[in-house]
Amino acid sequence: MSAPTRVLVVGASAAGLATAEALRRKGYGGALTLLGAEPHAPYDRPPLSKQVLRGDWEPGRSRLRAPEALAALDADLLLGDPAVALSPADRAVRTASGRELGADVVVVATGVRPRTLPGQAGLAGAHVLRTLDDALALRADLLAARRVVVVGDGVLGAEAAATARALGRAVTLVGPQRAPLEARLGPVPAALLARLHAEQGVDLRPGAAVRGLAGRGGRVTGVRLASGEELPADTVVVAVGSAPATEWLAGSGLRVDDGLVCDSRCRAAEGVYAAGDVARWHHEGLGGLLRLENRTNATEQAAAVAGNVLGADRPYTPVPFLWTDQFATKVQVYGVPAPEDVLTVVEGDPAGGRFVALYHRDGTATGVLGWNMPKQARAHRREVADALSSPSPSPAPADR
Ligand SMILES: Cc1cc2nc3c(=O)[nH]c(=O)nc-3n(C[C@H](O)[C@H](O)[C@H](O)COP(=O)(O)OP(=O)(O)OC[C@H]3O[C@@H](n4cnc5c(N)ncnc54)[C@H](O)[C@@H]3O)c2cc1C
Repeated sequence: MSAPTRVLVVGASAAGLATAEALRRKGYGGALTLLGAEPHAPYDRPPLSKQVLRGDWEPGRSRLRAPEALAALDADLLLGDPAVALSPADRAVRTASGRELGADVVVVATGVRPRTLPGQAGLAGAHVLRTLDDALALRADLLAARRVVVVGDGVLGAEAAATARALGRAVTLVGPQRAPLEARLGPVPAALLARLHAEQGVDLRPGAAVRGLAGRGGRVTGVRLASGEELPADTVVVAVGSAPATEWLAGSGLRVDDGLVCDSRCRAAEGVYAAGDVARWHHEGLGGLLRLENRTNATEQAAAVAGNVLGADRPYTPVPFLWTDQFATKVQVYGVPAPEDVLTVVEGDPAGGRFVALYHRDGTATGVLGWNMPKQARAHRREVADALSSPSPSPAPADR
């Protein structure tokens, strides 16, 4: 394909903006359009469950770039107008407002949408947490709440529970695992997280299946468990995972299967690429398809996509990196460890609340866990990077 002169990026958030910036940084001087469904200029999501929800930051501080930096990008920023269809053959995108946009290259960066529970639609006091508007609505309810139930014991649910507790609310965290994040971190770190939450006063309900929400007069009143028990609540945070925002690609002929499926260059078809949470691409080091939902990947994959759009033809083989803040504890994970991998502490001491541990499977390093030791954890990243740089036949577990 000859050098593109018109690039359209769909999704104006972390990965979309980073793609546009990387294109300009790498010398792309052609037309550039950034199309976003939300009305807001690009903003960052990690602070939404932490600083913004706690009220430590005013909402505007989560924006990703100042207006001058956005203007310097020399891109058409079309906001509040979701794409509704893509024709890959001619890279034509139709939007909800009826715009017809054409390009040589389309980059799909539409992220994910939160899943919801039966009975949740239209119920006041029942919240998901994905957008800035979600965070502000949840914060307003949390300030008045007496009893908060967080449904979902993954990264987002545990963060939301910690923040609600930090705001002084009575908080119950309910989920199917034996301890928060067990499927992600394995049993030992998950047990430490459970202890941390319990010490901070979170009421943990592990191993519980949630059937749905209960409400009266249009407002949530509780969470129904499969056991028949009902946990009373005036505010509920539903953090039960997410689904890639790919419904607008239905009928495009592109392969959609838990994300937009791409080759090792993050290319879904000639002239169509994907970056960020929505992209499920072939990671050559892991020898399988991988989709990551983390902030670092949004930026790194965007840079890789921009390079490939401009002809670099390089596989994207990152060492996945995730961080999460739970109360004052900062956790970092490099690699894609499976919960059953063997965990060995290599620095510090879990009893002291600061340590670094390595995950191994069949003698190969699969991950690094940092617990309040970010610098030291980063120093061990190399061990995972070496293992990921050689092609492997083992399947890659999915991220978040
Ligand atoms: C509350 C919260 C806290 C988080 N905390 C952490 C953390 O501590 N550490 C970490 O590593 N990661 C964290 N994450 C994950 C991280 O924020 C995401 O991985 C990152 O935002 C992914 O960027 P993205 O651009 O791929 O997707 P998104 O940020 O989801 O952006 C996609 C954009 O595309 C838009 N869009 C969707 N459909 C269309 C359409 N049809 N047309 C046009 N636009 C569309 C969406 O409205 C959205 O603005 C957190 C996420 C959330 C929600």
